[in-house]
Amino acid sequence: MHTLYIVATPIGNLEDITLRALRVLREVRLIAAEDTRTTRKLLDRYQIAAPLTSYHEHNKLSKLDVIFEALAEGDVALVSDAGTPGISDPGYELIGEAIARGVTVVPIPGPNALVAALVGSGLPTDGFVYLGFLPRKAAALRSALHAVSAERRTLIAYESPNRLVETLDAVIATLGDRPVVVARELTKLHEQFIRGNASAVRDHFRENEPRGEITLLIGGAPDQPAETWDDERVRDALRALLADGLSRRDAARLVAEQSGRERRAVYDLSLDV
Ligand code: SAM
Repeated sequence: MHTLYIVATPIGNLEDITLRALRVLREVRLIAAEDTRTTRKLLDRYQIAAPLTSYHEHNKLSKLDVIFEALAEGDVALVSDAGTPGISDPGYELIGEAIARGVTVVPIPGPNALVAALVGSGLPTDGFVYLGFLPRKAAALRSALHAVSAERRTLIAYESPNRLVETLDAVIATLGDRPVVVARELTKLHEQFIRGNASAVRDHFRENEPRGEITLLIGGAPDQPAETWDDERVRDALRALLADGLSRRDAARLVAEQSGRERRAVYDLSLDV
């Protein structure tokens, strides 16, 4: 058996590819690519004419035989559309099977959106938790966020632009108004980092429709809650806002943001006021 190379490729800027990655892609017998058209563009840019076969979410098990037949004859490279294969991209099953069959697995490190986003974010880099793509359904999203609410390390998730505002709403409701960073279009022309508390970043993206590829970073839980909001304190704050003429709904939303408590629970407390 030969070697299976796990080759990281650019996440936008085609210059982000290592010399070693180019050499390996040039020398292997076969490249298994998530989307052969995307990879062909990269290979054309570097005049590499290696044979390609598709390896994606929907054929990742049925394609194993083809890939192991090629590995019996020579080396194979696995690439995804962007970044590091296996990171929210196909790869895990093939890598696991290769190890089980005694194939040497060699990673060729390179671009990866979450690491680029983390080091550019300004949030603590000494430890982090990668959450992958967050669940789409509202209840599942909130419970996924609840599950990490006590986590001290920086949280990182991949997110789609059309769910970003909703996700930030859920972050505010479940984790409180923590520092967040939206890293957008990394390595590309419109690369951008939007940093601030979750409510300010959410408001920014309410005004400016999110576009492009997005990595979301959320500051870990503070060492000690800066302030404790017990039920009485929540009621006092609600009382003041209701006296100012705010609707129950708006008052509950604001106090939920300030206190970091769930909006529904705050709304229920407002019924006592
Ligand atoms: N394997 C890739 C890696 O190593 O980063 C991740 C693949 S995952 C299917 C694609 C997601 O990664 C996008 O939806 C976005 O959340 C994030 N992403 C990819 N490229 C990005 C970029 N240039 N800027 C910000 N986020 C990016």
